[in-house]
Amino acid sequence: MEISYFDNSATTKAYPEATSAVCYMMEECFGNPSALHPLGLLAEHKMEEARDIIAHSLGCKSEEIIFTSCGTESNNIAIQGIAHTYHRQGKHIITTQGEHGAVLNTVNFLEKQGFEVTKLPLKEGGRIDYDEFTSALRPDTILVCIMLVNNELGTVYNIQKIKNIMTEQKSKAFLFCDCVQGYLKIPFSADSLGADLLSVSGHKVHGPKGIGALYIRKGVRVSPVMHGGGQERGLKSGTHNTPAICGLGEAVKIGYDNLQNRIAHMNELKQLILESISNMDKLIVNSPSDGAPHIINISVLGARSEVVLRMLGDLGVCVSAGSACSSKKGASYVLTASGLRDERLNGAIRISLGDFNTKEDCFRLTDGLKACIDRFCFR
Ligand code: PLP
Repeated sequence: MEISYFDNSATTKAYPEATSAVCYMMEECFGNPSALHPLGLLAEHKMEEARDIIAHSLGCKSEEIIFTSCGTESNNIAIQGIAHTYHRQGKHIITTQGEHGAVLNTVNFLEKQGFEVTKLPLKEGGRIDYDEFTSALRPDTILVCIMLVNNELGTVYNIQKIKNIMTEQKSKAFLFCDCVQGYLKIPFSADSLGADLLSVSGHKVHGPKGIGALYIRKGVRVSPVMHGGGQERGLKSGTHNTPAICGLGEAVKIGYDNLQNRIAHMNELKQLILESISNMDKLIVNSPSDGAPHIINISVLGARSEVVLRMLGDLGVCVSAGSACSSKKGASYVLTASGLRDERLNGAIRISLGDFNTKEDCFRLTDGLKACIDRFCFR
C-alpha cells in the first residue's frame, strides 16, 4: 500500500545521505573516537566535522555543542544540570503547561527534591501570556524552560521576548529552550533566541534516532546527571555513537543549507491542506494561524481521534492523535491546557509535515478526512 506519512513531528524518514553516513561509520570508520590509532583519529575527525555542522546551523562555537542520545537526554542534562549547579542561588524554575514530558517530568522530579516550579498556563492556540511570565519571575528564579515550537499545536513561542523580559527584570536565571520541534523548521540561532542552553534531536530532522545535541553557552556550568568515562566534557559519558553523530551531521547539512526552500515547501503544503479543509464544516483548526510551518492540529467534530486515525490508516495515511508519546495515554494535556473540551478534544488529530511530503499526499489526506466526516459525523 502506498503510504502518505504525516507524522513527522513524531519522527521522520532519514535522508539517504544520513543513512549512508551511518553505514560508513559502522562499516568502515568504526574506530572509537577516543582511541589514538588511525581509525580512532579518523572517527574523531568525522565526529568533529559533524559538530562543526551543527554549531554552524545554530550560529555558535563547536565547543558549545555536546552530543547526547536524544532530545529527552539533552533536556534532562540542561535542566537537572543547571538546577544542581546553581541551586544555592535559588530554587525556583519557570516553565509552561505545554512543554514536552521530557521537560515537565524533569521539573516535576526536581520539585520532589525541593525546587519550586511555576507552570505558565496556556491560552487559546497554546499561547502564553508574556505579562504572566513577567509576574512569575522572582529573584530566586534560576531557570526558565520554554520550548520554541509546541509539538502538538505548532505554536511558536517568542523566546527573544522572554529573554528581553529577563534582561529588563535583571533576572539572573538561565534560559533553556527545547528546540526539538523548531530546529530546521523555523530560522533561528542560539544568539537570536538569547538562550543559554538549547536542545535538538536527530530523528525529527531526517537524521537517525538515538542522537541529540545540546548547546551550552560558553561559561555556563552544568553538572553531569550521569558519570563514567568523561566523554563530551563529562556530561555524556559513554562511547560516542559516531554512526548517529555523523548521520545527524549529514541531515543537518542538508536541512540547514536548504532551510528557506524547505520552509517554503512545508508552508505551501500546509496552505493546501488548510484550504482544502476550510469548507469541511465538521473540521476545526486548533493550531494558531501564526504557527510553525509543519504542524496542523485539527478536530473532527463528532468522531473520536482513534477512529479517524484508524480509518485514515486503512487508506495509507499516517497522522497522530496529539504527540506520539501521549497517544496511548488518553486526552492530550496540552490541548486540555489550551482550553479544548468535549468534541474538540476527543476528535483532535495532528498532521505534521516533512521534506518528503508531496501535494498528492495532501490530496489523499484531505480526501480521507472527507470520507471520515461522511462516515462518522452525520449519524
Ligand atoms: N521535546 C519536544 C518538543 C519533542 O517534541 C520531543 C519528541 O517528540 C522531545 C523533546 C523528545 O525528543 P526525543 O524523542 O529525541 O527524546
